[in-house]
Amino acid sequence: MSERYMHFINGEHVAPSEDRFFTSTNPATLDELYEVARGNAEDVDRAVKAAHKAFTSDSWSALSATARGHLLRRLGDLIGENSEKLARYESLDNGKLLREMRGQLATLPEYLYYYAGLADKVQGSQIPSMNPAILNYTQREALGVVGAITPWNSPLTLTTSKIAPALAAGNTVVIKPSEYTSRTVLLLAELADQAGFPPGVINVVTGFGAEAGAALVSHPLLAKISFTGSTATGSKIAAEAASRFIGCTLELGGKSPNIVFDDANVSNAAMGVVAGIYAAAGQTCIAGSRVFAHKSVYDELLERVTERAKSIVIGDPLSDSTELGPLAFADQLEKVSSYVKIGADEGATVLAGGTCPAGLELPGYFFSPTVLTDVNNDMRVVREEIFGPVAAIMPFEHEDELLSMANDTEYGLAAGVWTQNLARAHRMARKLEAGTVWVNTYRAMSPMSPRQGFKSSGVGIEHGLESMNEYTRLKSVWINT
Ligand code: NAD
Repeated sequence: MSERYMHFINGEHVAPSEDRFFTSTNPATLDELYEVARGNAEDVDRAVKAAHKAFTSDSWSALSATARGHLLRRLGDLIGENSEKLARYESLDNGKLLREMRGQLATLPEYLYYYAGLADKVQGSQIPSMNPAILNYTQREALGVVGAITPWNSPLTLTTSKIAPALAAGNTVVIKPSEYTSRTVLLLAELADQAGFPPGVINVVTGFGAEAGAALVSHPLLAKISFTGSTATGSKIAAEAASRFIGCTLELGGKSPNIVFDDANVSNAAMGVVAGIYAAAGQTCIAGSRVFAHKSVYDELLERVTERAKSIVIGDPLSDSTELGPLAFADQLEKVSSYVKIGADEGATVLAGGTCPAGLELPGYFFSPTVLTDVNNDMRVVREEIFGPVAAIMPFEHEDELLSMANDTEYGLAAGVWTQNLARAHRMARKLEAGTVWVNTYRAMSPMSPRQGFKSSGVGIEHGLESMNEYTRLKSVWINT
């Protein structure tokens, strides 16, 4: 029998209340990797109750903010010490390149250190009073049990982005990782246990969204839900949270524009366009899937991107020479392939890719880097999130026309701008409807920099000082002296 992973509740590995498990598969080899507990409402109830008890227990609530910071720092150290194993497991689970995962794991401890440093900086202030006899001050308080629901494309980083500020502020957490990538999140909880977090402060219930995920969102003891995933699921979660007046932070989908102006360094821009859409096989929320190039550089950019797309080395994600791994699971491959067909039926020209690559030794869910041209904003391939290595490249002539095309989307997660013109760079940063704007770079990210999805790309802020407010509430105290 393959290895079996249980839930992690109250500091222990806990078998599912019903004897049900599901299998996790390597998307490159299609080998079965391990089995995971399939959580239900009863398992979720157990985890939330453990987290609730821990929230009020002396072992957590009486701990100083400084001590919480030390625990987070220790967890960061342990992640660093286990980074090779975590990077490898994540690569096996979702097919991301091992070298990319090593890069992510190298910076992951910094997320913990950043929030460790913020734990003892959560503070209120004294408010000027109209009556000098009254002292009015504010204090920031932890919320209680935070539910964290995360997707499969960057499980550790996205989970850490939620739990680190939540824990720094004094909350406890129940995590429901994606059913495709349970293992590294379970290991994260084990490392937290090793770091000395009291039992019940960090819990993980594995399983499916409609079952364990939905049970977590609707649990009456939950004080807040922090979700990263698709806009469709985010909308259901927001409705549930609204019905119970609990807060939610939502990081959702995207269809980001990557814009190349006539004065750009086209060689650099082409590399930025390629990295923006083909990194992680396009399975990133910030993928620059809509590329707009000024008509004077359109041909050159198209040629450079198409040439590069055709030469990208596809194969084993564990190999250092591989540049593009598989899609994460069968439905992803089906979805991406079907979008290319939809695009072709709508009149798009497929200049590169569009199919599964031939001649690979591995049987997995591989899809070639794809370039679509002859596309426009009315087409589904330009409007909908494909979440795969598919770039739609379009020419533009005037800045106003470009802005109206770039902003003509339900999403507002990120945007890239390639220009040497400083005034234009600032103008674009102001006028693009996106929570993150990169100029002459793409995909830069840090725990210090706040991230917010505009429009249907999200609600609330992750990363940065501001994210601490997502996990605290403000109380105003009036004392008649
Ligand atoms: P998804 O919405 O299908 O699933 C995300 C998580 O929600 C999983 O853990 C899933 O089990 C759970 N879930 C599903 N249905 C649920 C329900 N009814 N109630 C509670 N939980 C439920 O998304 P996915 O396919 O895992 O991830 C891809 C999506 O995530 C893309 O749209 C991508 O853009 C988005 N994403 C956004 C960001 C960001 O920061 N904005 C980052 C990464 C991914």
